[in-house]
Amino acid sequence: MKAIIPFSHQLLSEIISDGNTVIDATCGNGNDTLFLSKLVGKQGKVYGFDIQEAAIENTTKRIEAESKENVTLIHDGHESMDKYIPADEKIAGAIFNLGYLPKGDHSIVTKPLSTIKAVESIMGRLKIGGRIVLVVYHGHQGGAEEKNQLLTYCNDLDQQYYQVLQYQFINQKNQPPFIVAVEKIKEITFH
Ligand code: SAM
Repeated sequence: MKAIIPFSHQLLSEIISDGNTVIDATCGNGNDTLFLSKLVGKQGKVYGFDIQEAAIENTTKRIEAESKENVTLIHDGHESMDKYIPADEKIAGAIFNLGYLPKGDHSIVTKPLSTIKAVESIMGRLKIGGRIVLVVYHGHQGGAEEKNQLLTYCNDLDQQYYQVLQYQFINQKNQPPFIVAVEKIKEITFH
């Protein structure tokens, strides 16, 4: 069985191809940004968001070290992505690694309402077959609240339009992270 981070990457590599546009909603130390940058290639585009200067700096160093020019880093919350990404830009995939910046300030964490707002912004732009992968860390203060609100939100998504997967090791101790992945299967049309 795949561990959580490798499985989160597998879920994305299955559906992202050369030239796609994708989002790292929480850049942190840049691991996921770099992974996405390699997946979409020179013709693709990665938008990366983080509210912390330190995270943007760390991610910038990672992508510069690998000469990646397909990444646009945005020092702002993912909940504000509508300011930076055109409404008609199609997104193939996105990842949210929730919680705090490893080796950073553990009191700065993702929050339920802004996370859900960003998920909704991406859902509107998601291609059919596109996926949003959430890696849910919930052991920190406020983590249980974010986990519960996200699960409630995702449980309620209409199965006609989205399929939602939860991937979790149920016998691990100490509130291990788990994955929630949302895949768009049909466009919502308004009559
Ligand atoms: N993906 C990262 C990596 O590969 O290293 C790890 C991300 S870390 C678990 C979570 C990050 O979310 C932190 O860097 C934190 O600053 C960021 N964050 C918290 N609230 C945010 C928000 N509203 N918008 C964007 N990033 C946010």
